[in-house]
Amino acid sequence: MQSALRKLLASGFLVSVFSLTMAVQAMTMNSLSPTQYNEIKQSALDKPQLVYDDIAPLLMQHQQNPLFRFTQLGQSALGTPIWQIDIGSGPVKILAWSQMHGNESTATAALMDLLNFIAAERQKSWRDTWLSKVSIRLIPMVNPDGAAAGSRFNSMGIDINRDAKALQSPEGRLLMQAAKEFKPDFGLNLHDQNRFYAVGDTNKQATISLLAPAFNEAKDIDDARKKAMQLIGDMRDLLESELPGYLAKYNDTFSWRSFGDTFAGMGISTVLIESGGHPRDDNRQVARKLNAQLLVMSIESIGSGAYQQQPLSAYQAIPFNRDGGIKDVLINNLGISVNGNKAQVDLALELDTSGGQGRVRDIGDLSIYAGYQQFDASGLQYQAPKAYALSQALTLDNAGYIALLRQGYSHFSGDAALLSNNSDFPVVINPKGLATTTPQRHRLATFLLRNDKGVQLALLNGQLLDLNNATLLDLNK
Ligand SMILES: [Zn+2]
Repeated sequence: MQSALRKLLASGFLVSVFSLTMAVQAMTMNSLSPTQYNEIKQSALDKPQLVYDDIAPLLMQHQQNPLFRFTQLGQSALGTPIWQIDIGSGPVKILAWSQMHGNESTATAALMDLLNFIAAERQKSWRDTWLSKVSIRLIPMVNPDGAAAGSRFNSMGIDINRDAKALQSPEGRLLMQAAKEFKPDFGLNLHDQNRFYAVGDTNKQATISLLAPAFNEAKDIDDARKKAMQLIGDMRDLLESELPGYLAKYNDTFSWRSFGDTFAGMGISTVLIESGGHPRDDNRQVARKLNAQLLVMSIESIGSGAYQQQPLSAYQAIPFNRDGGIKDVLINNLGISVNGNKAQVDLALELDTSGGQGRVRDIGDLSIYAGYQQFDASGLQYQAPKAYALSQALTLDNAGYIALLRQGYSHFSGDAALLSNNSDFPVVINPKGLATTTPQRHRLATFLLRNDKGVQLALLNGQLLDLNNATLLDLNK
């Protein structure tokens, strides 16, 4: 052994580095690798929105498995069953529930993945490490009526996550009843957040945001909240190894009416997990996979107590969500002119994901923002939209449509039945709320982009058509 190394060992330096490394590895342990995930990932759930019928056959199938103890917790206001699934027999209890907001179904898919992983034949030795240490209660899809309606709220119009004190919704009452009866040590509150959050000052999407909710206005840290923060420290380690840079912290303002904050006040170490957007991932499958990994890791960490090694500084170091930091579409450096005042501006567009109209949301220096889609319009000028009035039957093919766009027509007005669109491109008919001589906030994302040689591109309800190549541009980053 070299003398320098011997000296280091004698000083204890290497030993402490070594044990620190071991501790970090123990904390980041996660038995659900990406490869294994692909093996257990539940098929047919890669959709924008899950409803009860998507999970009912899966639940029925798992009901046959003696590992899972199914109980119908009750039913929604409109009569759809709400199930709870108990797993394990250990003294430390974990309650996880999803989709109390009906249009936030990402984690419901992850819970179905988790059931598959737990049930997998080859996971027996893994299960045996925790089945006698923890008891898990899962409540997938707390709000099936909202899910069916594609709505945040329940069928009575109540936001279940603002009903933790009033308990006027049957769904909220069932969740509270399950918690009071089960008396969990940990609560995992699974939601989706809007796709426009960035991670702090970065230009990355908050694909996952975490929070140990406060139980009072002062945001005090009691023992239960401390444990939630420590568990989040483990979650941070996992996410930094799986998808570095896409983790943020959710707004920590005390929300008295909410379940997370109310459970925190009941002494439950509660962790809010918010699934967010990611580039080229409309159905949030990236967040879904991370949710499944976080759930598996949480079972392991809570079962072994590994989270207790985490310093609170790990939680505190997570940057907060930056609201509106990410835009759907950014068009940079577009020339505009108003009363002889020429300028180059960036435009932010917001697309309507339900198929409605895309709109301009912001104008100016938008260099602090990032976009899911981005286009550099340097050298191009805004040209106001102009209607082509339909007076007789018109059949559009690609060439004919592009010829009209080159002539400065951006959309059609009149009797829509007269227009047959045989082109490969979208048409805009009788739009309401167009911009005029210059782009304007809240107006439609339909106009033309030109240079000295004429119209080069058409923005058609948020989609950019390149007239020279006759192609819709894929601006996804
Ligand atoms: Zn929510």
